[in-house]
Amino acid sequence: MKLTKSFNRSLWVFHLNTGSCNGCEIEIVATITPHYDPERFGIKLVGSPKHADVLLVTGPVTKMMAPKVRRVYEQVPDPKLVMCIGSCGQSGGVFYDSYNLDGPIDQVIPVDVYVPGCPPRPEAIIYGVVKAWEKLERLEAAQ
Ligand code: SF4
Repeated sequence: MKLTKSFNRSLWVFHLNTGSCNGCEIEIVATITPHYDPERFGIKLVGSPKHADVLLVTGPVTKMMAPKVRRVYEQVPDPKLVMCIGSCGQSGGVFYDSYNLDGPIDQVIPVDVYVPGCPPRPEAIIYGVVKAWEKLERLEAAQ
């Protein structure tokens, strides 16, 4: 896989599961394997939201997770972006209209990039990360 555009910065990503079935997580894990090797572009997962540029959220946001999602969102330093991976976070997906949801995600925190699919393929996730990257560079240039 080749990027057709170069970026001036790396992009660190913090992943948060808000109640997903883990299908999206498996695709995220597939995305960071040596087959795709996104680290060669400077894209890597980090263990703390305080170190991240992008908050990558999966799942439909259960009532239990909603306050935690808000707290983690506040911990990501500005300028920050939120990526929603998978149909659950966008519409509730297979959990649509469930009694225990506060989501979809954009009902809880603002979302910048949506990657649809159930689950989306690694190529789609990387494409979404590149879109987030472009938006982050525009935000930084405007500051
Ligand atoms: S979008 Fe599909 S794969 Fe992803 S968490 Fe929802 S049900 Fe699971």
